[in-house]
Amino acid sequence: MSPDMTRRAALATIAGGVVGATATAGAATAQALPTNPDVVVIGAGAAGLAAARELQAQGKSVIVVEAAGRTGGRAWTESETFGVPYDQGAASINASNINPFTRIAREGGFDLVDYTNAGSAFYVDGKRATAAQSAAYGRAWSAVGDALAEAGEAGQDIATSEVMPKGMKYSGTVKSWIGPMDWGVDMSDLSTADYWNSGDAQPSFMVREGLGAVVEYYGQGAPVVLNAPVSEIDWSGTGVRVTTSQGVISAKAAIVTVSTGVLASGAIRFTPALPIATQEAVDGLPMGLLMKIALQFDGAKLGLADNSWLDYAVPEEMPAEAAFFVTWPFGGDISVGFAGGQFGWELSAEGPEAAVEFALGELVKIAGSDTRKHFVKGTMSNWADNPLTLGAYAAARPGQYGARAALEAPLGDKVWFAGEALGADYTGLVSGAYFSGKSMAQRLVEAGAAE
Ligand SMILES: Cc1cc2nc3c(=O)[nH]c(=O)nc-3n(C[C@H](O)[C@H](O)[C@H](O)COP(=O)(O)OP(=O)(O)OC[C@H]3O[C@@H](n4cnc5c(N)ncnc54)[C@H](O)[C@@H]3O)c2cc1C
Repeated sequence: MSPDMTRRAALATIAGGVVGATATAGAATAQALPTNPDVVVIGAGAAGLAAARELQAQGKSVIVVEAAGRTGGRAWTESETFGVPYDQGAASINASNINPFTRIAREGGFDLVDYTNAGSAFYVDGKRATAAQSAAYGRAWSAVGDALAEAGEAGQDIATSEVMPKGMKYSGTVKSWIGPMDWGVDMSDLSTADYWNSGDAQPSFMVREGLGAVVEYYGQGAPVVLNAPVSEIDWSGTGVRVTTSQGVISAKAAIVTVSTGVLASGAIRFTPALPIATQEAVDGLPMGLLMKIALQFDGAKLGLADNSWLDYAVPEEMPAEAAFFVTWPFGGDISVGFAGGQFGWELSAEGPEAAVEFALGELVKIAGSDTRKHFVKGTMSNWADNPLTLGAYAAARPGQYGARAALEAPLGDKVWFAGEALGADYTGLVSGAYFSGKSMAQRLVEAGAAE
């Protein structure tokens, strides 16, 4: 059973491959710090880039200030670790029929691999599940899905753990997929309303050259100043004054696209301080953690299929202590494990060696001890400690679904928030970040905030 029965499955995927990039992803245009743009956008991830594009399309002058030395934010492809493109963050183009990055990737000549009906393998006690076990696993997906639908349709906003069927065989695996490995939180921290209001994941694509490379390609030519962390946004007077490490920018308005983790950390000082309603909204949207642990092998396929999901039975009461995999994306020599939620934070804190050892150990239980002989090296994504993200993506606390709408309220029509946390049906996703950046830019212009 693959996780494609979840509403947002395939979030936890990887793009790694054996063929080099065919599209040239380039850097955003190098910019000097301008003095007085109409709008300053903070953060050059998918949301910030989409906001900047929209503002430019509406004839407004705009500058994007980015703390890191690259664009893309949590969509980041790198080739240094394995010698082939590997996405440390976002990898899957979910809901590809309406996802703007499908078109952008096609325009850029990227190679899209259809993951809509990717294969899957379910294991019980280290052995491939029997037909009866697979059927029981299917029933667990249905029972969990029905329970979540019932809560969602009833308009409930409570912890998903409260509505789970009890004593259902293999439901631990289902809960592990939905909570930690999709939303980055345990079921006790996942709101039924948040889950229910998210759009379907399928159809979906993976990008051989990396989804991060597609977002970087989209950012080409955008007016971005890199290596310019923002430390203060002063919205006390007319317009805004944004302090960066490279100087101060005065603008009529700002769009802030940093993660809710960064907002909560206080790394950016707001003057005056954030209103209580905004602060409460940020508190209601803490960051979850999905970590990716990629394992490279020497070409041995270990009896595992290309482009396929791999999961296994876990105890019902400890759904999170597991790493499920996508095996050999693009037919390459890397398999990628996923862990998340509370267990993910703990594993991440133990560091890459421990994380790689854990994921490898899980694979050994399935593919046998020869697995270690063929192992070459591994890596762990580190979004937990990255001060520019402080987690993977936001999940509304149970009872706090309304925080997403609350955070959309601008501060005096001068400071607007955007990003994956405000991605409507596609919160937590690259597409949601894009939609949110674009729509906040439109709302800002409609409100006359850039006049
Ligand atoms: C492991 C993992 C797997 C994922 N898998 C998928 C997937 O398969 N499909 C999918 O669609 N999504 C996936 N996502 C989610 C997706 O990556 C994010 O939702 C999306 O990229 C967020 O975009 P954003 O523009 O809202 O934020 P970001 O990309 O975080 O952009 C915000 C930017 O602000 C910058 N910034 C931070 N602080 C400051 C500061 N003080 N001053 C200036 N700039 C600052 C950051 O450096 C960053 O570039 C995944 C995420 C993770 C972590």
